[in-house]
Amino acid sequence: VPDFTHDAARRSWLDAANRPTDFPLQNLPFGVFRVRDDEIARVGIAIGDAILDLGRAHEAGLFAGDALAAADACVGHSLNPLLALARPARQALRHRVSRLLGPEATGVEREAVAALLVPRADVRMELPVAIGDYTDFYASIHHATNVGRMLRPEHPLLPNYKWVPIGYHGRASSVVVSGTEIARPRGQRLLPGAEAPTFGPSGRLDYELEIGAYVSGGNSLGHPIPIDRAREHLFGLCLVNDWSARDLQAWEYQPLGPFLSKSFATTVSPWVVTADALEPYRVAMPPRPAGDPPPLPYLDSAQEREAGAYDIALEVWLRTAAMRAQGLPPVRVSLSHARDLYWSFPQLITHHTSNGCNLRPGDLLASGTVSGSAPEARASLLELTWQGAHPLPLPTGEQRRFLEDGDEVVFRGRVPATGGATMGFGECRGLVRAPAS
Ligand code: MN
Repeated sequence: VPDFTHDAARRSWLDAANRPTDFPLQNLPFGVFRVRDDEIARVGIAIGDAILDLGRAHEAGLFAGDALAAADACVGHSLNPLLALARPARQALRHRVSRLLGPEATGVEREAVAALLVPRADVRMELPVAIGDYTDFYASIHHATNVGRMLRPEHPLLPNYKWVPIGYHGRASSVVVSGTEIARPRGQRLLPGAEAPTFGPSGRLDYELEIGAYVSGGNSLGHPIPIDRAREHLFGLCLVNDWSARDLQAWEYQPLGPFLSKSFATTVSPWVVTADALEPYRVAMPPRPAGDPPPLPYLDSAQEREAGAYDIALEVWLRTAAMRAQGLPPVRVSLSHARDLYWSFPQLITHHTSNGCNLRPGDLLASGTVSGSAPEARASLLELTWQGAHPLPLPTGEQRRFLEDGDEVVFRGRVPATGGATMGFGECRGLVRAPAS
């Protein structure tokens, strides 16, 4: 439920938070940063062009009560202890930080907080969470339909799609933070016309624009999370690039699904926008087309139907090495919306635990490629170029079927302005380089 922290009219005493930014007073996302390479990583909250150092704010005695319990969980070098706390403590911390940075802060508080702000330009962001397990879903029916049309034009969508959320267990060890260079993977691929596979660099490297959700709390083995409790386990969202080697994938995926075509790298954005901050941006899930089955009872709830989706606009920007050399800016190649997903994150959480599987604080669940029905809403090159049949023209005269070495891919996500306040996710960025020799 929205509260005072979401009031679009609230302004910070910190000017940069009131100018157009992904991180106004209403957002307050969590991240982990390092000022110098030899320094231990610290937990902070982004505000405008700065970061509030939560560990030092705790040392300065700025927290009390429930907010103190949550601030205690922020003195380490990852968000995991915070994710282990129940939602009320985290909300108390959000309320206190909003007041410390908001118009009601006293002169003494402003002076204390100002001394604890670090310019964002001076830091290196780290992975915010020590991710235990990573699961990638397939929650966009538009993505599933596009991919299905390429493989099975007669029956694009497999019969299980509208009943069961499809997913696979991903690899947590290779999840990296935005800015990490991505080495083109090598692997087995069956080249066109060949009778046997060869081993070498992927020729069909792709991105997948996705939303990630960090799990808070969790459940014990054998005790599923019911749908009406699932939202409590959603700590917050980030942007995810599920880098994919399509040629490796096409050769290896049957019968057990993706493996080395995905596990070489997954990039996450460094700032986690909390479910609390996103409360005003919950919208109804798209109505299921006539003839689609309703979700089975364990996945169905009025709350999810009415406000299970998030109104987040997602963008993909691409800049090649030649564009950089010529001083050309990145070009936007996709624009899609998280509200188009067929399954909500609480439905994914409930489904994941429905067999008794335990989720733990710090697990990462990704949505799957967030494509929409419009051509510009295709959120991978596989879909945008239709497996390379329609190359993407670029301002340099270059074209792309799949990613080349030197290409840089940037994702952005923003919620719509409500009464003047808008906010976003920052960036999820990765540059492709040649494989290590
Ligand atoms: Mn994916």
